[in-house]
Amino acid sequence: MLSNNEINELKLLLKKKKNIVITAHTNPDGDAVGASLAMYHYLTKLGHKVNIVIPNQFPDYYRWLPKSDKILIYENHAKLCQKIIKEADIIFYVDFNALSRLGALTDIIKKNTAKRILIDHHIDPEVENFDYCYSTTNISSTGELVYDFITELGDEELIDKQIAEGIYTCIVTDTGSFSFSCNRPDTYIITAKLISLGVDAEKIHKLIYDTYSENRLRLLGYAISNRMLVWEDFHVAIIYLTKDDLLKYNFKVGDTEGVVNFPLSMDKINMSILITEKENNLRLSLRSKGEFSVNKLARTHFNGGGHKNAAGGKSVESIEELINRLKTLMKDYKEQLDYKISL
Ligand code: 5GP
Ligand code: MN
Repeated sequence: MLSNNEINELKLLLKKKKNIVITAHTNPDGDAVGASLAMYHYLTKLGHKVNIVIPNQFPDYYRWLPKSDKILIYENHAKLCQKIIKEADIIFYVDFNALSRLGALTDIIKKNTAKRILIDHHIDPEVENFDYCYSTTNISSTGELVYDFITELGDEELIDKQIAEGIYTCIVTDTGSFSFSCNRPDTYIITAKLISLGVDAEKIHKLIYDTYSENRLRLLGYAISNRMLVWEDFHVAIIYLTKDDLLKYNFKVGDTEGVVNFPLSMDKINMSILITEKENNLRLSLRSKGEFSVNKLARTHFNGGGHKNAAGGKSVESIEELINRLKTLMKDYKEQLDYKISL
């Protein structure tokens, strides 16, 4: 985290009006979008000129978040984003630990000389790439860290309903509606404070989770019925979706969010992997329950990373090649994956 000295330096840095850019990882999720907007509202309140620039589109079910229309998508507005990044005095990096996670934005950001401040909860951040690292893994979400960050800067009383809605979105999405990464009492203390600031938890749940298109729900059904492999001996399930599958169900950004969690609802399954065929590569989304670290697996074999129980990666193999490699690989992990959750 940050020393008292560093906190004082940051307070000083933020005393005068600055050009600030907030950025988050490719394929932004609820934590990335919510934390970016919470920081946007906070820094705007402090009087800074603030822009959010992210590499690619975020799911439509986060559009209700106040000022989400201000988020600039690099993929759609490259020139404008480059100009804004060039003019930045400070860049906040939220919800990721490695510059490469910025995708097409990585090289532009690397060239930039603005002060770099990381706010993140992933394992092993690239500390050498940031001037300040506000980072710990022992927390539900980056949004919860944003609450602590604002508080540490002495501004807890500036947290209003808009900031609270951003932070709440982070906590509820990154804990799977309070079902994982949610064993710290502080998460609930902060959540209670957010609710007292006017956050409508019931409505937000509906806005995020009850907004499926018919196609999205049918794609989920198809994925589970037709594209799920269950390797009982390894306690592993794989779901794969081809480009054609996605086309058939008129895939929209965010439609496969959550699909990877369903196989874990089987008692016998300890790890679930979703393989999605993209334009030039395969995306892997990995989840585990209990001790098995998908972060380590993703780092070692799939050029990725994340958290112990939720990670991502990529591959340039064909789906068939990747599935065959996984099957062989699982033999090495058979013992590690053989356990049962108990209290
Ligand atoms: P998801 O499966 O939802 O895309 O990602 C799960 C977690 O792993 C998220 O916290 C995400 O930020 C992280 N993650 C996803 N893909 C990558 C990757 O390619 N590299 C790293 N380091 N982290 C990833
Ligand atoms: Mn997160």
